[in-house]
Amino acid sequence: QEPERIAKVMARAGVASRRDSEAMIAEGRVSVNGTVLESPALDVKPTDVVLVDGEPLPARERTRLWLYHKPRGLVTTNFDPEGRPTVFEALPEDLPRVLSIGRLDINTEGLLLLTNDGGLARVLELPETGWLRRYRVRAFGEVTQDKLDTVRDGVEIDGIHYGPVIARFERQQGFNTWLTVDLREGKNREVKTVLEHLGLAVNRLIRISFGPFQLGEIAEGEVEEIRSRV
Ligand code: URA
Repeated sequence: QEPERIAKVMARAGVASRRDSEAMIAEGRVSVNGTVLESPALDVKPTDVVLVDGEPLPARERTRLWLYHKPRGLVTTNFDPEGRPTVFEALPEDLPRVLSIGRLDINTEGLLLLTNDGGLARVLELPETGWLRRYRVRAFGEVTQDKLDTVRDGVEIDGIHYGPVIARFERQQGFNTWLTVDLREGKNREVKTVLEHLGLAVNRLIRISFGPFQLGEIAEGEVEEIRSRV
């Protein structure tokens, strides 16, 4: 492995940002192979012993990924200014600190991916991944398959372009229609907005898959760790 700037190595280990790591070096808090550094202008090899405040660098935790069955009524945010309950408060207690990969609306249920790896979270929520998101939807109103097919190649609503939305009629239940909806971009409120445009008012929205991952039989409020390598 190539030698790297000491501040970069510290930042990657999660000590602090690169800039703050440089400040810590200037404060005399960092030593390499027993010598306290006075300047960040130093490259280190993996075999060099770096101590910060006398402690070795934390080993970077391996990437972990969980499937979570989000219940209704939770917001996907760390802090809600309105004080509503959040996903992160509701997660099982034995979980380490995690981030969500994308978000589900407060009243949306179903599959939400969680990870301890910020880089992975950022990459997987990009539209460029093009991952299929599949929803089971209950909506007030009636619709024909022909009408659903009008959004197959995308649609513009209130100046916003939505990519292809593949909606399949499943069954009628009283005043409600059950549908399966597939899309690949996941814009804000996409399912609700597009179905509303077709005259349907969504009253239940359950994500059943995201890319290669399925909600399956995971109980509401529970998580399941993906054990294969990610
Ligand atoms: N579409 C929506 O309208 N809401 C979600 O939470 C996800 C997709």
